[in-house]
This record gives sequence, C-alpha cells and structure tokens, in this order.
Amino acid sequence: MAFDGRSLLPRYDLDRLTIATLCSHSSLQIFHGARQEGFRTLGIAVGQIPRYYEAFPLARPDEFVVLKDHGDLPAKVRELQQKNVVVIPHGSFVEYVGTDRFQELALPTFGNRAVLPWEKDRAKEKAWLEKAGLTLPKHVDDPRDIIAPVIVKYHGAKGGKGFFIARNYHEFKRKIDETQPYTIQEFVLGTRYYLHYFYSPIADASQGYRMRKGALQFMSVDRRDETNIDEANRLGSIAELEAIGIQPTFVVTGNFPLVIRESLLPKIFQMGEGVVESSWDLFGGIWGSFCLETVVTDQLEFKVFEISARIVAGTNPYISGSPYTDFIEPGMSTGRRIARELKIAREKGLLAEILT
Ligand code: AMP
Repeated sequence: MAFDGRSLLPRYDLDRLTIATLCSHSSLQIFHGARQEGFRTLGIAVGQIPRYYEAFPLARPDEFVVLKDHGDLPAKVRELQQKNVVVIPHGSFVEYVGTDRFQELALPTFGNRAVLPWEKDRAKEKAWLEKAGLTLPKHVDDPRDIIAPVIVKYHGAKGGKGFFIARNYHEFKRKIDETQPYTIQEFVLGTRYYLHYFYSPIADASQGYRMRKGALQFMSVDRRDETNIDEANRLGSIAELEAIGIQPTFVVTGNFPLVIRESLLPKIFQMGEGVVESSWDLFGGIWGSFCLETVVTDQLEFKVFEISARIVAGTNPYISGSPYTDFIEPGMSTGRRIARELKIAREKGLLAEILT
C-alpha cells in the first residue's frame, strides 16, 4: 500500500522543514539548491558518511543519517519525521530502496508516488507516452520479425545495463537470455537528447509555458556519456569489436551539457504538455522535474524511448543555471527549483498539492 505523506503535515513544524535525499546521483545539486532557498538539509548515507562531501562545502548537508543498508530506511522513519523531513527522490534513491519500499515510505515525498508503477512496467509506460501523443521507437513483438537493428531491453534493466543490440533473428537468438522478460525496440539512429522539464501545478501561468493548470518550464538538456558504446569506435566498428568478443554496453558514466536547435522548442513543449496532461487522467498527475529521453532523427522527429519522472543526473552540469533557465531566472538549477517549489507551496499553504 502506498503511504500518503500528506497525512503527516499536520504534525510537522512547517517552518522547520528539512530537505533530505540519498547521498548519490544528484544529491550535491539537491542539497546545494535547498541551501540556496534557506532549507535545512539531511543526507541519507549507507554504511558511513561519504567523505567526498568534505570537498564540497556548499553542497554538504547539515546532517546525516547513516543506514546499515538501503533496506534499513523504514527503521529510521520516526527519527526523520521528528526532523520534519521531506524526501526528494532521484533515480538511484528509488532504485536502491526499491519501488515498493519507496511507495510505502512513511515520509512526505516531493512528486507523485503513483507514477512509479507507470515507469516500472514498460507496457504501462508505453500506454502513457502514446496517450501523451509522443512517437516511440517501433516495438517488435516477434523476434523473427527483426529486419533492422533493434535494442533488446531486459525488464528492470537500468542505467544502460542489461541491453544488447541485434541486427537479425540469428543474432538475437545467439544473445538472448530467455529466462528473463524483455522488450524489443527499433534501434533509432540519430542524436540523443535528454530533455529536462519542470512542471508546477501551483505556479501562475505567467511563470512558464501556460498549461491547463499551472506552468511548464524547460530547464535544460544533456547527452549521456555511455561506456563502452560512445568511444568504442576508437578500437573499430561495433561489428569488428563483436568479432573479437567485445559487446557494446550503455552504462552511464557522465553527462554533457547541450543546447538544442531553437526550431525544435515548440515540439519540446508540446511533448512535455502531452505527458503532463495525460498523467492527470491516468494516475493523478506528474509534477516537479521529469525527463524525456529522446533520439532526434534526420527527419527532425523526436522518438522517445524512456521517461524519468523525477530529477535526472543529466541536470548536474547546470548547478549555476542553464542557457534556458537564464531566460527564466539566472542561477536556477533543477535542485534549487525543487526547493523553490516547496518554499512557494509552503507560503501559499499548498504543500498538499505537491507532496504525496
Ligand atoms: P535507457 O536505460 O532506456 O535510458 O537506455 C540506455 C541507453 O540505451 C540510452 O541512453 C541510449 O543510448 C540507448 N537506447 C535506449 N533505447 C534506444 C533506442 N530505441 N534506440 C537507440 N538507442 C537507445
């Protein structure tokens, strides 16, 4: 059963909210942004307090809670409630704690936890994105129908691990592990753009791209650096590498900052709007930051292969703002925008609209 963190708000001292997240992924950005907006911060660490925070004093949380392992978090919930903790989820947080445990976590959480089943289940994710009007890579039901390169994704595979490319049925048969459920997608050739949005249901329409309720902002865009695929050509073509037993992998190791051609912006807002509007009907809405992972083809068409319904690590190059947030408010990172949203919601008495 999903816990509704809003039930704790009457017991909370709202003037002393503490922003907490797991020490990983985009936590430096989240703590830095929270501090800029005047919040206390708390880092949830596993095993020990990570030493690397010493090196970044402006992003170091005010205090830490140390867990034995990720499964230990529910045992610390009372202590965190007493500190008026609001949790900011990020990809690693949800993945390490586990979707089910995260849904049950008895703490107010920024964003709608009801989105989790829609991201976890690839069929549901596909239904949502199609309802939003997005173009997805073609889906191949029967591997015998592979006539062009495909990417095969095992269910639950994350961060680019557990994928392989196949060019035909024979290659698929040679590589597949039939014991695991999988999805076969067209491998889209083009340039990858990971689009970072922030949707506020409580903002004035004048503060962003006008929506049915509130406003949508386009914060930034990145491209992931993925090993070994992104530099595999240093040794030869993928076919040559496979011939000597080296398989391409898509493991994310970093992120590049980017801008996208201005003529694509109308489509970017249209896609973001579709995702937000369709989410209201399906599961009660998506708000806060989210990311569409896309490939733009040489026909300038976006094909969306994934959605991430919270802050992504691709926002990390933009701690001091991006070429897009400079047109909204200079110096605005996504981490800071999240803290700002909490601050505005608190002032307007609307915390229950952005926490679950
Ligand atoms: P994901 O875990 O779905 O974000 O995918 C990991 C990486 O695989 C992406 O960052 C892309 O580089 C690549 N990828 C995933 N799906 C596709 C696709 N349909 N076509 C081309 N590349 C893809």
